[in-house]
Amino acid sequence: MLSRPSRNRSARAWWDGSRRKREMVFKSGRHFLQLPGPTNVPERIRRAMSRPTIDHRGPEFADLTLRLLDGLGEIFGADAGVLVYPSSATGAWEAALANTLSPGDRILVCVGGFFSQKWAGVARALGLQVDELVVDTRRAVDPTAVAARLANDHERFIKAVCVVHNETSTGVTSDVSSLRPAIDETGHPALLMVDAVSSLGCTEFRHDDWGIDVTVSGSQKGLMLPPGLSFVAVSGKALEAHGSATLARSYWDWSVMREFNARGFFPYTPATNLLFGLDEAVAMLREEGLDQTFARHERHAAATRRAVEAWGLDTYCQDTAAYSNAATSVVVPEGSDAEHLCAVLRERFDMSVGTGLGELKGTVFRIGHLGDLNSLMLAGALSGVEMGLSVAGIPHSRGGVSAALQFLAAGEEGLRA
Ligand code: PLP
Repeated sequence: MLSRPSRNRSARAWWDGSRRKREMVFKSGRHFLQLPGPTNVPERIRRAMSRPTIDHRGPEFADLTLRLLDGLGEIFGADAGVLVYPSSATGAWEAALANTLSPGDRILVCVGGFFSQKWAGVARALGLQVDELVVDTRRAVDPTAVAARLANDHERFIKAVCVVHNETSTGVTSDVSSLRPAIDETGHPALLMVDAVSSLGCTEFRHDDWGIDVTVSGSQKGLMLPPGLSFVAVSGKALEAHGSATLARSYWDWSVMREFNARGFFPYTPATNLLFGLDEAVAMLREEGLDQTFARHERHAAATRRAVEAWGLDTYCQDTAAYSNAATSVVVPEGSDAEHLCAVLRERFDMSVGTGLGELKGTVFRIGHLGDLNSLMLAGALSGVEMGLSVAGIPHSRGGVSAALQFLAAGEEGLRA
């Protein structure tokens, strides 16, 4: 609140002082949320979520659930069903494992970054034996390396292979569609589990067609919702494994959930208002068309890389076939601190970009370009980064924003160039 100028100070000094204070506290315009999730929640979804909560045991709710499960099946490309939990995606990691495996079971986790490491950690905490296939963090998972590990497992101890489709910490997307043929070639019966937390709604994803048994995802990325919902898509083979799996589970139990879901309900109080938002998100994705949504993400990712290249910086991903549609991790030059850049962007320009996670802390920053985004929003974000690089004193060349704008102005033609 503004106080009156004191008699001892000139009006000018009072005005300058209070202006400085106002500038520090008051933020005009909107915050730029350019994290690789949570992402911007569109006005349509926010309005949908502000509806009064309804009776979660009544007929209106049952209609909502059945409609939603149908829509999610379309988005995942999963006929056998998708389950929805009121949890973050970490909960869905646990649900995938606890419902299909037994204590002491061995699994193979392709570890290529912060999130695959965390999934392996969840598995260990549940009492599973984890074999790690250590992947070059700057490249995609190699299906032949997965096949080689399975071919060597003569006793068929490995019950599941876990892969992160888009490693949000590195900005590397693996070709998940190549895994099932590689696994099948070895004749190994392992389940294939995929984390599609930051790829769903950003990059083509086909649960059934790609022979995936369990897909895990979350609400706060390509689905444009706030955090708070997670998803598990299952296959017939995963449901069969569920029948004999003995890991302890209660909250996450698929059998109970599926029994209630079949009637349009949940075994516990659902996150009703997030489900209203999800209903709207599904409608938006249908309106845009999934192929157009993926093309838009691809265009924005490519524009971001044009900017990075013109700045004279490197993307962390070194595999041109594995660039992420969702987020670009950018390496800062030796001697620079990416954390400082993130702080400058937050404080000076009211923009959040992703910090480096785990071993990449200080070395990279991550520009999220997923979810509800258009070309001008991306242009604003890249302008913020370019200003931030200057303010933070990070050596770079000018012209990144111009390069991105030129690319965006060329539209789809630019993508083909
Ligand atoms: N998997 C990936 C690829 C992620 O990016 C994240 C979070 O960013 C998670 C899993 C964990 O999700 P949550 O934080 O919602 O539990």
